[in-house]
Amino acid sequence: MSATNEKLAIFGGPKAITKDPGDIFKWPIITREDEEAALDVLRRGAMSRTEITKQFEQEIAEWMGMKYALAYCNGTAALLGAMWACGVGVGDEIIAPSLTYWASALPALSLGATINFADCLPDTLCIDPKDIEHRICENTKAIVVVHYCAYPAEMDEIMAIAEKHNIKVIEDVSHAQGGLYKGRMTGTIGHVAAFSLMAGKSLVAGEGGMLVTNDRDIYERAIAFGHYERTGIRTDWSSDPGSITNPELKKYAGLPLGGYKHRMHQISSAVGRVQLKYYPERIKEIQKAMNRFWDLLEGTPGIKAHRPPKDSGSTMGGWYAAAGLYRPEELDGLPIEKFCKAVTAEGFEVEPGLNFPLHLHPMLHEADVYGHGKPTVIANAKRDVRQGPGSLPVTESIPKRAFSVPWFKHDYPEIIEEYANAFRKVAEHADELKNLEIE
Ligand SMILES: *Cc1c(COP(=O)(O)O)cnc(C)c1O
Repeated sequence: MSATNEKLAIFGGPKAITKDPGDIFKWPIITREDEEAALDVLRRGAMSRTEITKQFEQEIAEWMGMKYALAYCNGTAALLGAMWACGVGVGDEIIAPSLTYWASALPALSLGATINFADCLPDTLCIDPKDIEHRICENTKAIVVVHYCAYPAEMDEIMAIAEKHNIKVIEDVSHAQGGLYKGRMTGTIGHVAAFSLMAGKSLVAGEGGMLVTNDRDIYERAIAFGHYERTGIRTDWSSDPGSITNPELKKYAGLPLGGYKHRMHQISSAVGRVQLKYYPERIKEIQKAMNRFWDLLEGTPGIKAHRPPKDSGSTMGGWYAAAGLYRPEELDGLPIEKFCKAVTAEGFEVEPGLNFPLHLHPMLHEADVYGHGKPTVIANAKRDVRQGPGSLPVTESIPKRAFSVPWFKHDYPEIIEEYANAFRKVAEHADELKNLEIE
C-alpha cells in the first residue's frame, strides 16, 4: 500500500491508477456465440415470433427453480404486468422504496394507483422493513422490494408483514439477478419477481425483461394483460402451457386486457439464452473481484463496503451498480463531493450519490398526466400520500452518504489493487482536502 503515502493527484501528486484496465470493465461480454444466435434470428426471419423466447423463459425458470417465467420487451413492462397481476388498480396503493430506479414504482400510476414510498436502511440501501407496516391501509395491494445495487433486501421480515396483511410482494431483481438471500435466490421469495435484462444490467438480453412466479393465477393474469397471442384464442396456441385456463380471463382471450403488447424481441431472447448460459461462472468471477476490492479497503476510515456479511448466506449476484457507503463523520465531516473529486483525480471517475430520491421529484407531486384536473399521483387516491422533504430521512441522506465504485468483471489483482489504493489514499489524506475548492 506504499502508493497511498504519495501526494494526492488532485494536488499534483502521481495518480494511484496508472495501469491499462484492459477488459476488466467491459460488459456485457459478447462472443461469437452471442453473434451467431442473433444472426440466426435475423436469417430465419424469427424476430417477432415466440419460440426462442419460450426456450429462454424455460431456461430462466429452471435456473431460478421457479414454475413460470414470462418474457417482456423491457423490465418496466414486466413490473407493470406484475403490479396488475397482483391486483393493483384504481384507488389502490403500493409501497415501494424511494431510493430506486423509477420503474420500480411509476407503473402503478398508469394503473390508477398511487405510491407510498418507504425509507431505506443506511447500510443495505434497501427498503426498511420497519418503515412498511404503518403505511399499510385497506387499499394497499403490493409491496415492491428492490435488491438495491445488488444487496439482497430483508425478505424474511417483509414476507412476514405481507402475509399478516394479505398483500403481495413484488421483487424487483433488476440489480440482483443470481444473488442469494440467506441461501435462496433473489426473485424466488416474493409472490412474483420482475427484472430488467437491459444491456447495462448484470444479466443481459439487450432490451428485455422477465417476470417469474410460482403462482399460476399471477402468471395467467400477466399473460392476459400484455401477451394477447398467448391467451389461447388461436387453436395453434391452445396447447401452449402459457394458455389461459382461468375462465374469468379466458372469455377475453385474444385481446390484451391492458391494451399493452409486452412481447420480447427474439434477438433479445436469443442473446439472453447465451448470456444466461455463462452467467453463473461470470458472476462468480465478479464476486471474487469485488470482494477482493472491498477486502483491500477493509478498515479504511470514511468508507464502508456495500455487501452482506460473509457468513450470512447472502451474496451480491453480479454486483450491478456497485456502490460504496460514505461515512463523513469518520473523516472529520469531509463533504462527499470533495472526496469524490479527489478519487476522480487519482484516475477513476466517482460520482457522489446513487438514484435521486423519487418522492421529492416534482412529477410525483404535481404532474397531471392524464387530464384528471389534479396531479396523477393522487388522481384516484383515497388519501394524499405525497411526501415532501424530510419525510424519508435516510433516503434523503444517501446523496451525501453513498458513491459509485468500480464494477470489476474480472479478478485481476494488480489492477484491482490500484483502484483500492486510489480510495484508500484519498481517505488517508482526507484532512488535506478541507480547503479544496469545488464548484
Ligand atoms: C433498469 C431497472 C428497471 C427497468 O428495466 P428496463 O428494462 O430498463 O425497463 C426496473 N427497476 C430497476 C431497479 C432497474 O434498475
